[in-house]
Amino acid sequence: MENELNSPSEEHLTNQLLPRLPNRYLRDRPMKFAGIQKTSLVDYPDRVASVLFTPGCNLRCPYCHNWRIVMDPKPPFMNEETALTTLCARRKYVDAVVVTGGEPTLHQELPKFLKRLKERGFAVKLDTNGFYPEVLEECLAYVDYVALDVKTSLEKYWQLGAGSTAGLMRTLTMLKTGKVDYEFRTTIVPGFVGNENIAQIGELVKGAKTLAIQQFVSGDTLDRNYNALKPYANETIARFAETVRTYTDNLIVRT
Ligand code: SF4
Repeated sequence: MENELNSPSEEHLTNQLLPRLPNRYLRDRPMKFAGIQKTSLVDYPDRVASVLFTPGCNLRCPYCHNWRIVMDPKPPFMNEETALTTLCARRKYVDAVVVTGGEPTLHQELPKFLKRLKERGFAVKLDTNGFYPEVLEECLAYVDYVALDVKTSLEKYWQLGAGSTAGLMRTLTMLKTGKVDYEFRTTIVPGFVGNENIAQIGELVKGAKTLAIQQFVSGDTLDRNYNALKPYANETIARFAETVRTYTDNLIVRT
């Protein structure tokens, strides 16, 4: 059923996106985490990393695989001290930490936590959807690498639960003009990325140091209609890659 879904299901739009999600911060002091993956070979470029997952997210992407910690994060949570102790105990195997979610920058305490990671000598990567540029800006002093999701063209973001995309636009500019190493990354989800908007996505990331486009993997998704959605063929991804190649210095294709 390649490309049969052109938008989230009616049920998803009704139950998850309406009414609009409040654009508020979470203020847990200190931070808490929904989970930890002690070792990952794929989440930090060229490094062995541990991955921390923050609970909650401002978006509701129908194809989200982490929807359990997005929709209804449940205890037990790992507190900040336990996370640091666990990471430090693994220091001889792992020298990098990825903070992902959910949406990490939803948490106002994030910059302070990242500072503590840096003080302990870890390389730090932050994954973000870019909707909280104020928090991200504070974080940049303590991160070595940012991966920003550019999920679709602007006019489709409402289908992911977004109100204004002004924050995302600020984040794009901040990273393009800043000093911290980064990648923009686009998961090629049918219905959100296609012939009709791949060039618009290119315009959004224009001038990017690195753009990674990556294959969508179906499975246990927030909107169950996406569970069995057939991804695009690799040849289609290759065609999209050619379209966006001119918008970036460095294109990475992950299929
Ligand atoms: S931004 Fe990421 S964590 Fe949040 S709903 Fe979308 S895919 Fe899930």
